[in-house]
Amino acid sequence: MQIIVRIGEIALKKGNRKWFEEKLVRNMKKALGDRFEIKRLYSKFKVECMEKDAPLAIDILSRVFGISSFSLAYEAELDENDIYETVLFALERELKTKNIETFKVKTKRSNKKFPIKSPDFNALVGEKVLEKYDLKVKMKDPDLTINIEIAYKNAYISLNRVKGLGGLPYGTAAKGLMLMSGGIDSPVAAWQMMRRGTPLTFLHFDAPPVTTEKVFDKIKDLVGILKNYSHDSLVLYRISIRDVLREIHKNCDERYFVLLHRRIMMRVANKIAKQERAKFIATGENLGQVASQTVENMAVIEDSSEIPVFRPLISLDKLDIIDLSQKIGSYDISILPFQDSCSLFAPDRPITKARMEDIIYQERNLDMDKILDMAMSNITKVII
Ligand code: ATP
Ligand code: MG
Repeated sequence: MQIIVRIGEIALKKGNRKWFEEKLVRNMKKALGDRFEIKRLYSKFKVECMEKDAPLAIDILSRVFGISSFSLAYEAELDENDIYETVLFALERELKTKNIETFKVKTKRSNKKFPIKSPDFNALVGEKVLEKYDLKVKMKDPDLTINIEIAYKNAYISLNRVKGLGGLPYGTAAKGLMLMSGGIDSPVAAWQMMRRGTPLTFLHFDAPPVTTEKVFDKIKDLVGILKNYSHDSLVLYRISIRDVLREIHKNCDERYFVLLHRRIMMRVANKIAKQERAKFIATGENLGQVASQTVENMAVIEDSSEIPVFRPLISLDKLDIIDLSQKIGSYDISILPFQDSCSLFAPDRPITKARMEDIIYQERNLDMDKILDMAMSNITKVII
């Protein structure tokens, strides 16, 4: 049997469309493995699979970016009777598992050499169905739509359409560096960026022994969830910044602690980004969620980065972010308790509307080169 794969946004890509499609095919191949064969079907693709492997293939395709929808399809000869038979065969199976009372037929005739026009063919197939089953035709919102695609070599009959993830194929945009903490937000932000085609490298700051090995295990597990969508290995850096935090704590006004800490994280991230040839930094920041996430404070944080800082969650409500994290599969890991490096030395009353001149004043008390060297000498790299 076949799985018909439809592309969404890629179809709008005019001159670059071929390049995006090739990337999508490569990604599907990598995700599905050798067991499945992928073929082009005009503006779509089809994945050949044994019936018993179909649920597995569908599960994998539902995690590939760039697919707008897919459906399980039965192939028929380009022959009226063979199509009727195949429709009835498919329908028989569907009726066994689902309670269906109404239906409609929707034919798409890409191959105009097929002699019967789509509306006429809809009616003919409808009649065959009504002869055999006690169903009713309903044009608007039927329980079941029988899709028939008349292609050049064969016809394809599919009964349900599953929504894909949409987005663009992973690897079609420039690489980014994701600042990864153990909360709900950053894995969702990473996923949103990946969905727009950017490959990501991950960076986590921790502060042992305040943060434990368990925290890093959690970060690894979260990146592991994201690998279910990249279908490619992911690089995770870990940098211990306990001594850095201590320096800030010792030398600066504690109300600025979080911002100074974040600005140092940005500077270190810029160094890693350069090594990794990443062209932007992404964070899970979200407007108004915590004290450091006011417009003013984000501007101060951003000022310390030479490359763009993207915040895909900026406008989402927390509940929307939680829904997404459940859909992605990161939620259950994210909610496990863990000690964030940020909570070390965190002040009770942080500044919510920092001014750049005050930040610069505070940073005069820090030997920035020494601090950055300290951070950069405490790196571990893991491949997930
Ligand atoms: P999250 O749910 O992603 O942990 P949060 O709601 O706890 O975010 P903050 O603690 O203000 O919010 O962090 C905002 C963003 O800063 C995070 O989404 C992440 O991108 C980055 N960040 C925070 N802490 C770390 C860390 N220890 N290592 C790497 N990045 C971090
Ligand atoms: Mg956090």
